[in-house]
Amino acid sequence: MSDEDFTPGRAVDLAPGVRRITAPNPGYMTGPGTNTYVVGGDEVAVVDPGVDDTGHLDAILAAAPGPVRRILVTHNHPDHAGGARALAARTGARIHAHPTPLQGVRDRDFRADELLDEGDEVRGADYRLRCLHTPGHTTDHLCFLHEETGLLFAGDHVMAGVTVVIAPPDGDMIAYLASLERLKREPIAAFAPAHGGLMRPPVAVLDEVITHRLEREAQVRAVLDAEPAGIGVDDIVARLYPDVPEPLRPVAAYQVYAHLLKLRAEGRARGEDIDSPWRAV
Ligand SMILES: [Zn+2]
Repeated sequence: MSDEDFTPGRAVDLAPGVRRITAPNPGYMTGPGTNTYVVGGDEVAVVDPGVDDTGHLDAILAAAPGPVRRILVTHNHPDHAGGARALAARTGARIHAHPTPLQGVRDRDFRADELLDEGDEVRGADYRLRCLHTPGHTTDHLCFLHEETGLLFAGDHVMAGVTVVIAPPDGDMIAYLASLERLKREPIAAFAPAHGGLMRPPVAVLDEVITHRLEREAQVRAVLDAEPAGIGVDDIVARLYPDVPEPLRPVAAYQVYAHLLKLRAEGRARGEDIDSPWRAV
């Protein structure tokens, strides 16, 4: 059994009291699929139940050493929160999530029983999970630090092999970079992302993501510099992502737009919205 085993339904032991099960939803946006983490022993917390798929929920229950008492959701996107209601119905577990109101592509049927925010701690008989509010991918995004092992259940804040989507208005590039930076001060041993395998060492992982984003930002700014009459988001995408697969073109447009909004907030670009021309300042 390998840390890189993402066979749907297979329980992979990552550390004492931590198992990972990958949901059967691989794709451009999800990599091998959404990871669900089963945490604890005599009683269990499930982090990101994943998609609402009976086989996946069966696998979660089979991997849980004890009764599932809590369901923690990193953020309300359908591939993370979609299975929460069905898993709660099967187990009687309470659903915990951040209270931010819905924006963007959210699961509108999702309801939390308990609200979590920065600094809250969720305790079971043999686990402690500390909540870190990490807005950026979405405004409601939480990471959960497993105090026993230092694993950070990172949701979509950092992902292995897939680029995190920052789609305004729910996604915010300024908040995202700040949320990456702050994690450098936390006692994290490794990231356990919702997509892909464990990532470490933490500061190097964070620096790589931050550097990649700032390089993209510089490229966006350079295109604006080269086009003093103004240029639209789609034309910037065509220059910076010439080989992007067609299904990902709208995602790339949102990424560029997120960079433009950051540049505008810093007084380095001007433009109205995703459909308008943008210029350097
Ligand atoms: Zn997401």
